[in-house]
Amino acid sequence: MFQEFDSVANPAQGPARVALLREKLDELQLDGFLIPRADEHQGEYVAHRSERLQWMTGFTGSAGAALVLRGSAHLFVDGRYTLQARQQSDPATFTVEDLVATPPSKWLAENAVTGWKIGIDPWLHTISEAKALRKALEGKGGSLATLDVNPVDEIWEDQPQPPLGAVAVHPIAFCGEEAAAKLARISAAVSGAGARYVILTDPASLAWTFNIRGSDIAHTPVPLGFAILDTQGRASIYIDARKLDRQSRAHLEPLADLRPPHALEDDLRTLSEPGPAVALDPALAAEKLRLVTEQAGGQVVPMPDPARLPRATKNRAELDGARAAHRRDGAAVAGFLCWLDAQRAGSVDEIGAATQLEAARRRLGDETQMPLRDISFDTISGAGPNGAVIHYRVTRKTNRTLEDGELYLVDSGGQYQDGTTDITRTVAIGVPSADMRRHYTLVLKGLIRLSQLRFPSGTRGADIDAIARAALWNAGLDYAHGTGHGVGSFLSVHEGPQRIAKTGTEKLLPGMILSNEPGFYKEGAYGIRLENLIVVTSAEEIAGGETPMHRFETLTLAPFDRRLIDTGLLTEDECSWLDAYHSRVLAEIGSMVDGEVLNWLENATAKLPR
Ligand code: ZN
Ligand code: ZN
Repeated sequence: MFQEFDSVANPAQGPARVALLREKLDELQLDGFLIPRADEHQGEYVAHRSERLQWMTGFTGSAGAALVLRGSAHLFVDGRYTLQARQQSDPATFTVEDLVATPPSKWLAENAVTGWKIGIDPWLHTISEAKALRKALEGKGGSLATLDVNPVDEIWEDQPQPPLGAVAVHPIAFCGEEAAAKLARISAAVSGAGARYVILTDPASLAWTFNIRGSDIAHTPVPLGFAILDTQGRASIYIDARKLDRQSRAHLEPLADLRPPHALEDDLRTLSEPGPAVALDPALAAEKLRLVTEQAGGQVVPMPDPARLPRATKNRAELDGARAAHRRDGAAVAGFLCWLDAQRAGSVDEIGAATQLEAARRRLGDETQMPLRDISFDTISGAGPNGAVIHYRVTRKTNRTLEDGELYLVDSGGQYQDGTTDITRTVAIGVPSADMRRHYTLVLKGLIRLSQLRFPSGTRGADIDAIARAALWNAGLDYAHGTGHGVGSFLSVHEGPQRIAKTGTEKLLPGMILSNEPGFYKEGAYGIRLENLIVVTSAEEIAGGETPMHRFETLTLAPFDRRLIDTGLLTEDECSWLDAYHSRVLAEIGSMVDGEVLNWLENATAKLPR
């Protein structure tokens, strides 16, 4: 299994660890130390070694920070994690704070005592974050101390070593563009921004640029490492040599000098000395890199990671790969849904269902010789009220049985060499209520309307977020998350910069893969989310049209639960879209299933009654 269901949180360990850290604060003459849930690369998932926040507090969520002061300790989490943070941390030790309304910098601006000196590990904070913290403290006559050694690492006796996951070459058949060509594109962009060097700090950018994949962290096939690219054509990759085999070494050596991770600081110091400009993404790069560059006399040019837009706009090989991956993934999901329908209500629990789904993906991957390399995130397997918890993660403690008359929400995905998938379906267990069907159909309308949309080039994600919400809005309902996130190509399932959300300021360009995932959550009762991946393409010309349009092609191929669709609430146009989608599902994945599953699929994709 790629997914684990044991809860590792232990609130009881917090107090002793906080006491140890306070002894360090005394030694360092600091008033506090800030522990983010982050590593040197600022990714969504971190290696066990970098789970410092969890080690200190017990909190296992994917975002947050702890501020340990001499007299108090504060755990900052966003709204989706408030309840979880209270359950997982020791309430006598940690006060839970709102990470969005009062992030640590704002909290310090409001609460810091005059002259406070607060420490950070500058490898674990971005340039922007450090700037905000420094400003907050200096506003109070205090200061930010950037430490050379992380005090948590000093007191964490059995801290795991950095991971040594094997690096593999990502074949040209799947990535579609040689690394040398990508390097040339990045070089041109960096020169254009007036810099001589750029540091790739995001492992997904390293992986994409050099056509490699790794296995250092769960669910995202990236190698942890850095690269410095010189606009005059030289490159250095900073990665532990033990991760490389003969093949990956032979692939990388013509492209870059392979350097040990600890050489990065010295190399950066050396190349900064004559004072050339180094491009760094302030929202992504570690403050440490800025400090080293500037202390050596170099100049930092702020620039968004130059790999992110080229990475986000997939080429033909990547899109063909995504289509193939989604056909296989859809067949695996159909197998799972067929199995689920055949089970008696009350006989399956959330862990059992998630296990079955992973097994279905594994089986289909093996049969088609495109093995499942990982799941793309921990499956959200939520029955009844657990389905209403947007970022629910099932553990043995929270595990619930799928009962008659409930809804079951399952959000999951697979990592395959040709693509990353992410799909959510909501299923009726037994007979659903009229309200469940009404809410489900309103969510489905949102998904359909976004799927059908035509939009002028230049449209941003924020411009169309409302399309997926309009049907719910008209019923006085909404959902508290974005409509869509970017998705990588055998990379991160959450990939920027594209997104469909109120905060989606990036233009939607052809080749971008996004999710289309409206939802509705009735707290304490049920959750509904429906998610397909879609890709931006140029639309065919519209008769009489004047402006060139884009549209979405739907990648995900799995049926929606007919028992939950109230066709009376759909327009004829929406019904026809659904019928056409379902017949496409049958046509594209029908050949990959047989027997019972094929029978089930034929029923599940039949035309809707009008
Ligand atoms: Zn999802
Ligand atoms: Zn998603």
